[in-house]
Amino acid sequence: MKHSREYILPIDGLSLGKHEYKFVLDRAFFAMFEYSEITNGNVEVDLLLHKQESMIELFFKINGELEVACDRCADEFFEPVAGENELILKFGEAFEEETDEILIIPTEQHQFDISHLLYEYTILLLPLRKVHPEDANGNSTCNPEVIEKLNHMNHVESADPRWEALRNLKSKN
Ligand SMILES: [Zn+2]
Repeated sequence: MKHSREYILPIDGLSLGKHEYKFVLDRAFFAMFEYSEITNGNVEVDLLLHKQESMIELFFKINGELEVACDRCADEFFEPVAGENELILKFGEAFEEETDEILIIPTEQHQFDISHLLYEYTILLLPLRKVHPEDANGNSTCNPEVIEKLNHMNHVESADPRWEALRNLKSKN
């Protein structure tokens, strides 16, 4: 993975108290993750960092949209994503994930790269099934040509007696 300085927090040099950051997750951000299924987005992340003597609290607020392929028609569209995450960084001997919300980082750590966190938090906001939304009239906004082809294929499939035979065979097992 390539690293971008934009997503690195200078935790060592920060004064105690609250600090605010804003990050944008766009095409350039997702390009850092070579094997990412998602390659484009328009997501804003507001981060409130609260540095205390023994730990750093991070509150992430994620809002935007990710470009995904539709599970029904395979055309790409922007799926909205929104959510919040909390993470506590505690200083210790070495890197260790205590829980999903508590991370131990070495005391001598000067900076903390959050690009991977931002990636995971955002991707996890996607629904399992990603389908074009319906319009105001409740009609699918999927690619009409693809849907017509799919409907036609289903029709052919159900009209073909061999499929019927196969289905009967399957239901017997
Ligand atoms: Zn679709």
